[in-house]
Amino acid sequence: MNAGKRPAIIGGIIASVVIAVFAVSMNTNIFEQSKTTQNPIQNTTGATKLKVAASFFPLYEFARNVGGDKAQVYSFLPIGNEPHSWEPSIQQIEELKGTKLFIYNGGGMEAYISKFNSSGEFSDMTFVKATEGITLLKADAAEDDKEILAQGGMDPHVWNDPILAEQEVTNIKNAMEKADPANAQYYEDNASAYIAKLAALDNNIKTGLSNCKKDTFVSFHNAFNYFSNRYGVHDVWITGIAPEADVPPQDMQRVIQIAKDKDVKVIFSEALVDPRLANTLAGEVGAQVLVLNPLEGINETDQKAGKTYLDKWYENLHNLRTALECQ
Ligand SMILES: [Zn+2]
Repeated sequence: MNAGKRPAIIGGIIASVVIAVFAVSMNTNIFEQSKTTQNPIQNTTGATKLKVAASFFPLYEFARNVGGDKAQVYSFLPIGNEPHSWEPSIQQIEELKGTKLFIYNGGGMEAYISKFNSSGEFSDMTFVKATEGITLLKADAAEDDKEILAQGGMDPHVWNDPILAEQEVTNIKNAMEKADPANAQYYEDNASAYIAKLAALDNNIKTGLSNCKKDTFVSFHNAFNYFSNRYGVHDVWITGIAPEADVPPQDMQRVIQIAKDKDVKVIFSEALVDPRLANTLAGEVGAQVLVLNPLEGINETDQKAGKTYLDKWYENLHNLRTALECQ
């Protein structure tokens, strides 16, 4: 950002003004006009729906299930993107107008949140940290991983533990009840029904992983600490706390050695990353590549097929059972 480069405001070129003002300062009220002209969102009975933005896929899924037809929930992160280090565009920030609740994970997943909180632009929007009350683990970030450390150095991937996901659902439900007390019982019922599905997933994972020949799997990035702690398995990851990180040769060598020692026959890739690194590693150790989705997003094919957080976790469980050679 460079204040000296702020262009002059030219009448009619609203988009460039918005971009320039945002780029220079989040303290300027760029939303004032649009807030007053927005149309309320109506549901079929004519009542106004609660407008909710969720920062990325699992939170979108949780919010959508709790909000039902009383809330209009959308994913702030567009489908097909990987949320680590993603930054919203000006248009995407514009789309937040009228939003009552902004649900985010915290723990460093949404680096842009601090800008929102300090901007003063979102005084009508309540920020809901879904990990509130959850004890986060320290990220296994290298000391030179400045991006992770700048966000507090915590491991944000709680949603991959269905029990901790239940806590996120409860936090979302509490926020919806507060924002829309007239429908409190509705949100309560929806949250209970969804938590029952998460409890069933937890039971299925426990049963599915109860009789396995192996206890170690190789994931693409370090998104399964909470999961592994919950179910007593060991996760060796290739790229660290975020999937885009570079992998130094010594780290690659370390993973290859562990994979060979543990006789690993499956290397996991992800739906939203380049599979070449996983393919290379699999070639080195003589393993096949399967997908273990960290549930940070889904690809377009899955979106079109209407795949949910629960669908994708059951697919993960299937592939984990293959990797761990479970009965
Ligand atoms: Zn991640």
